[in-house]
Amino acid sequence: MTDPEVLTRQTVDLLRDLIRNACVNDGTADSGGEIRSVRTLEGFFAGSGLELEVVEPHHGRASLIARIRGTDKAAPSLALVGHTDVVPVDLDGWSRDPFTAELIDGEIWGRGALDMLYLTASYAVVIRDIAMGPFRPRGDLIFAAVADEESGSRYGVGWLTEHRLDLIDADFVLTESGGAPVGVRPSITTTVGEKGIAGRRLVVHGTPGHGSAPWGARNAAVIAAEAVSRLARFEAPVQITADWRHYVEVLGLPAELAERLTDPARIDDAVHELGTLAGFAHASSHTTISPNIIRAGNKENVIPSLATVDLDIRVLPGIDTGHVDAYLRHALGELMVDIEIVGDRFEAATRSPVDTPLFAALSAAVARAYPNADLLPVLSVGGSDARFYRRRGIPAYGFGLLSPRWDYGTFRMLFHGNDERIDVASIALTVAALDFTVREVLG
Ligand SMILES: [Zn+2]
Repeated sequence: MTDPEVLTRQTVDLLRDLIRNACVNDGTADSGGEIRSVRTLEGFFAGSGLELEVVEPHHGRASLIARIRGTDKAAPSLALVGHTDVVPVDLDGWSRDPFTAELIDGEIWGRGALDMLYLTASYAVVIRDIAMGPFRPRGDLIFAAVADEESGSRYGVGWLTEHRLDLIDADFVLTESGGAPVGVRPSITTTVGEKGIAGRRLVVHGTPGHGSAPWGARNAAVIAAEAVSRLARFEAPVQITADWRHYVEVLGLPAELAERLTDPARIDDAVHELGTLAGFAHASSHTTISPNIIRAGNKENVIPSLATVDLDIRVLPGIDTGHVDAYLRHALGELMVDIEIVGDRFEAATRSPVDTPLFAALSAAVARAYPNADLLPVLSVGGSDARFYRRRGIPAYGFGLLSPRWDYGTFRMLFHGNDERIDVASIALTVAALDFTVREVLG
């Protein structure tokens, strides 16, 4: 294996290039421009002998797949799946330019540094190093640099799963996210599952009228506002999952607080005591409904007869589409006479088993860096490309390995947040752990 310092340097350089490509995905088809990072990676792989394939389902929305063929067709394969798109920034909130990838005091700053370009860069460095070295994997090693993860993956893993599964299929998968130390021992988080997602639109019907005489009006905007505030106050029934119980255990909290955090009757009054972890604690124990887009009215002197509210609903394991509609009807109560619930998007929560050779290899990789640490399986409250694999029964984990300066609260805060950055020490740990894992699983 190449000198770890060299691999770290290569990863840092590649990461900075990926950040500068600014593949910002705002949800529209023509955003993203992931082709820029595909070109960067083609340059990075030039001369490595790696088999490359590029797909571009929509102009500019490209993904690159690299493969090393295994020596044994029957041996299990491993895919490293990294997205190249990033979410937009709120420039006012940043203390540095989010797209120049400055390296300051051992940290690389920029949108996507943590989510998840440092991992995508690490995967690329590891597969290139293996392609150019003497190690021959028994099973195939696949690297996929994919578009559009930040907006539903319809030009990325979603498209590939439907049209070119041959390129990205594997027996085991690594992707984002994980690696934050938790508790005193510490435990290192690895994402083994994620909440599901449901999409609904509330269509609110009122009666149009003149804005100069609003008394008694059935203003759709006013009804929508009431609906939104009811949904904001609504609490779905608490579910204490085994993953959440395990998570609380390793936090090393005072026993009394740990008890309340795992008691369905008391958790709601305890989450605020967790500081930066409060939102995660709440989302880990509840199916959540967030009203995120509200539209009503188009002229200031006309009382609107129509309003819409788009909901982001994240469901825990065991919750189905029937539960979701029942929660909405319950929360909205008698307002339902003016409201139609539209849409039936539903993807159930997914979870991979942990009794796999890949999980064992990750545990060993972590133990090399943190001798007393164990790997803590976490249910992510957000979504990732892992769901496309888990749904088909393929174990997929979110993995990385961060330095001791990190905690899970900071880690979560920087995802899609201001001043996103990653330290070189974490990159070094991650590249070494991935390199070890790949050789362990495919050796
Ligand atoms: Zn991500």
